Amino acid sequence: MKDRYGRNIDYMRLSVTDRCNLSCDYCSAGKKDTGTNPLSKDQILAIASAASSAGITKFKLTGGEPLMRSDLPEIIKSIKSLPGVVSVTLTTNGVLLSDKCEELKDAGIDLINVSIDTCDKKEYQTLTGSDKLTKVIEGIRACIANGIRVRINTVNRGSKTDVISLVKFADSLDVDLRFIELMPIGKARDMKGSPNLDIMKTLENEFGTGTEDEAKGNGPARYFSFPKLKIRVGFISALGEGFCDECNRLRVTSDGKLKPCLCFGDVIDLNGALKLEAGTREEALVKLIKEAVDSKPERHTFGTPDGITETRGMDYIGG
Ligand code: SF4
Repeated sequence: MKDRYGRNIDYMRLSVTDRCNLSCDYCSAGKKDTGTNPLSKDQILAIASAASSAGITKFKLTGGEPLMRSDLPEIIKSIKSLPGVVSVTLTTNGVLLSDKCEELKDAGIDLINVSIDTCDKKEYQTLTGSDKLTKVIEGIRACIANGIRVRINTVNRGSKTDVISLVKFADSLDVDLRFIELMPIGKARDMKGSPNLDIMKTLENEFGTGTEDEAKGNGPARYFSFPKLKIRVGFISALGEGFCDECNRLRVTSDGKLKPCLCFGDVIDLNGALKLEAGTREEALVKLIKEAVDSKPERHTFGTPDGITETRGMDYIGG
C-alpha cells in the first residue's frame, strides 16, 4: 500500500498485551493494571489476515511483554501461514525467553529483539525493578542454541548508558545491538536521552572507524561494522536523524486501536469491525487499514514536544 507521500506501507507492529513483568522507569508498564482487555487470539488473527490482504507482509509482535501470552506461539504460527507474509518477529524483555524459546522456534519466529539497557546487574534492578538479568542472558543463549536470529535493543539514556560494556557484552554473545534514541512518548516525555551520534563517536574511539552496512532490516535502523568488533551496531535515531521519509508502518494497540503514526494520538477503532460476521469483518477491517494508510502524517514532531499529541505510554502503544 502506498500512502500520500509515496511510502510503501508493508509493516505492522501488533501489540498483543499491555501487561508486563518488568517496570522500566521510562514505561512502568508492570506497575499498574491498565484496565484494558487485550485482544483475543481470534481478533488478533482477524486483524493480521485483513492486514495481509491489504498488503502488509511483515509483522512485529510487541507489548507490554508479549511472552506473557500463553497463546503467542499459536498466534505466530497462524500469522506466518497467511498469504504474502514474509516475516513475523518479536520484541521481548527476555525474562521468559529461556522457558519459551523452543515453542517460538517451532512456531517459526523469524527474529527476536531482546530489550537490555544495561549489562550491570545492580543497574538492571534499578532500571527495571527486577533482578532478572541473568535469566534474560540465558534466554538469549537459548535462542542462539536453537538457531533463532536474535538482536539486542538498548534505549539510549544518555550518560546512564554504559555503551562500551554493553557493546563488548553483545560482541561476546556475537549478537548485533541497536541503540534507540529515547522517544518523548509517555513517561519518557519528561526524560532526557542523548543523540546516537555521541554513541557513534564513543564507539569509533574504542573500536575504530565505523563502516555503514547497506543491508537494512524491516525498520529504520542503520547498521555499522567496526574493525575491532564481530557484530554490527545499529542506530534508530528518531530525533537525531528523523526517519519518517522511509516510514513503512502501522501500529495496532493491545485493545484494538489502529495508529497511523507513533507521535500522534489519532487512532481508528477496530473493535466495531471485529464484532462483525467473519465474511463482512475482513472487508471492513481492510477498509479501515487503508483509511489509516491514507491518513498517515508526513513526519513526527518529536523535536517540538507541543506537537506530540500521543499521551499514552509505550506499554499501551506497543513501541
Ligand atoms: S514517527 Fe510516525 S511518520 Fe515517522 S516513522 Fe514513526 S510512524 Fe512513521
